[in-house]
Amino acid sequence: MKLIKVLAIVAMAVSLATVAQAEDKKPKGKAGGCCAKAEKAGKKCEHPCCVEAAKAGKNCEKCGGKNE
Ligand SMILES: [Zn+2]
Ligand SMILES: [Zn+2]
Repeated sequence: MKLIKVLAIVAMAVSLATVAQAEDKKPKGKAGGCCAKAEKAGKKCEHPCCVEAAKAGKNCEKCGGKNE
């Protein structure tokens, strides 16, 4: 049963690392109001302008976001 425990720990570590990486990709600065709202709800903002900005690794300036 020891092996299963090790596998569980490894799986957990991998998922934690994935989460950390995803957070690193977040743009610096301040997200726009709509994006902040969507993020709070655990979603991504679906405005085309925000999606485009996110692709470029930026906050949408049209929606009040700021980039540093
Ligand atoms: Zn947005
Ligand atoms: Zn936008």
